[in-house]
Amino acid sequence: RKPDIECRMLVLGAGPGGYTAAFRSADLGMDTVLIERYASLGGVCLNVGCIPSKALLHAAAVIDEAAHAKDYGIDFGKPKITLDALRAYKEKVVGQLTKGLSGMAKQRKVRVVEGVGKFVSPHEVEVAGPNGTQLIRFEQCIIAAGSQAVKLPGFPWGDARVMDSTDALELAEVPKRLLVVGGGIIGLEMATVYRALGSEVTVVEFADQIMPGADTDLIKPLADRLKKQGVIVHTKVKAAGTEALKGGLKVRFEPAQEGGSAPEPQTFDRVLVAVGRSPNGGKLDANKAGVSVTDRGFIPVDRQMRTNVPHIFAIGDLVGQPMLAHKATHEGKLAAEVAFGEKKEWVARVIPSVAYTDPEIAWVGVTETEAKAKGLKVGVGKFPWAASGRAIGLGRTEGFTKLVFDEATHRIIGGGIVGVHAGDLIAEIGLAIEMGCEVHDIGATIHPHPTLSESVGMAAEVYDGTITDLY
Ligand code: FAD
Repeated sequence: RKPDIECRMLVLGAGPGGYTAAFRSADLGMDTVLIERYASLGGVCLNVGCIPSKALLHAAAVIDEAAHAKDYGIDFGKPKITLDALRAYKEKVVGQLTKGLSGMAKQRKVRVVEGVGKFVSPHEVEVAGPNGTQLIRFEQCIIAAGSQAVKLPGFPWGDARVMDSTDALELAEVPKRLLVVGGGIIGLEMATVYRALGSEVTVVEFADQIMPGADTDLIKPLADRLKKQGVIVHTKVKAAGTEALKGGLKVRFEPAQEGGSAPEPQTFDRVLVAVGRSPNGGKLDANKAGVSVTDRGFIPVDRQMRTNVPHIFAIGDLVGQPMLAHKATHEGKLAAEVAFGEKKEWVARVIPSVAYTDPEIAWVGVTETEAKAKGLKVGVGKFPWAASGRAIGLGRTEGFTKLVFDEATHRIIGGGIVGVHAGDLIAEIGLAIEMGCEVHDIGATIHPHPTLSESVGMAAEVYDGTITDLY
């Protein structure tokens, strides 16, 4: 069959990985087609992930800050929340960005094809969309089909009261009693939003702490604040099943480990299941192109983002953890450049993680827990924000900043920050690791006063609780 469209580069999926790959390909002069099943570009991140969640978290922060202002003599009264207007604000933020992407695609002459794409051969993808079925023949391809929320069995998924993160971001209503299953980043961000809007929130987490993966000391200020705000958190507990009743969803709990304890069954008005995301690699008929896919749906790639088929690359959530937008974009650019013929490979040392909760938690590189598990000899510089003039002025002294460095070389290998704006502050530590900085280099860098960024400089000078000059 004669193809409807022929191109040098085909990108499958228009999330942060895919649009970055497509734009870079076009900028390098490759004739590029971008396939996306939805009318709007941007993937999970822009439409139902990073961006709408942060717009709502901003609203949550304003509600909390207004309440806190009473402490310094300003009383805004009880907030009146107009859900329709809040939803419209979130949609405006998303629309501005997705429209921007369409403009950027047009500017670069990237041909966007709407529809679901599947491989039919190593050089062909068939797209079923609103304009019928089109066959596209490509020389090279970058697969960027992303991931989707895991639908935990045992929940009545046809019931609108059972939500995944996409449903929760719809903001259909503010439930009186909300259960969040999964105390990871996404679950806790949504818990933060709904709690600020007025829901009574309960969180259950299977692991022995919320936000598994981050150091326990970083979690504590968040756990303390959630407790103060009335959010109930059960760790080492799993939600075992749900009965849909007229008056709510009755949820049964079980201990995560034998011998553990679990709360009694409880009824909620809505349940958000946020227990992770599964890659979409298994849904593309990739075998027809000869591309290997793991049982779980991941597509293995090498350090150049190449699959086992040399002219087909894969990037983003479907190549592995961490499933983060900034990893996807980095990989998208790399894949396009390698496909073009540049001799490049993955060289980034670290990928920062941020939970935009309140307080925010951010970490990068080796955590203290990892260092201990691997038997690494590390030093830790830690600066409590209770000693930061800026944090005191903000009334948010619960945070701290820490640097993890190799004890022998003093090179920074990791860091963590908990506190307001931690996500914006972590980049400096990432840069320090990438540049092979020694802890002294940060200590010797003049940080502006009074800022929260000073805490990074101070952490470089506070070792084992005492201010020292390490040299
Ligand atoms: P995706 O964004 O998943 O995009 C894949 C695209 O491919 C989708 O548009 C999909 O429709 C399309 N597609 C799939 N299959 C086909 C097909 N067969 N044919 C055509 N099109 C197809 N990450 C962060 O870094 N920071 C955050 O703050 C953050 N917050 C998040 C909050 C939430 C609620 C969620 C759910 C995720 C969040 N993430 C965040 C994760 C982030 O959204 C993902 O890591 C990122 O979107 C992955 O990009 P991607 O390009 O790999 O795939």
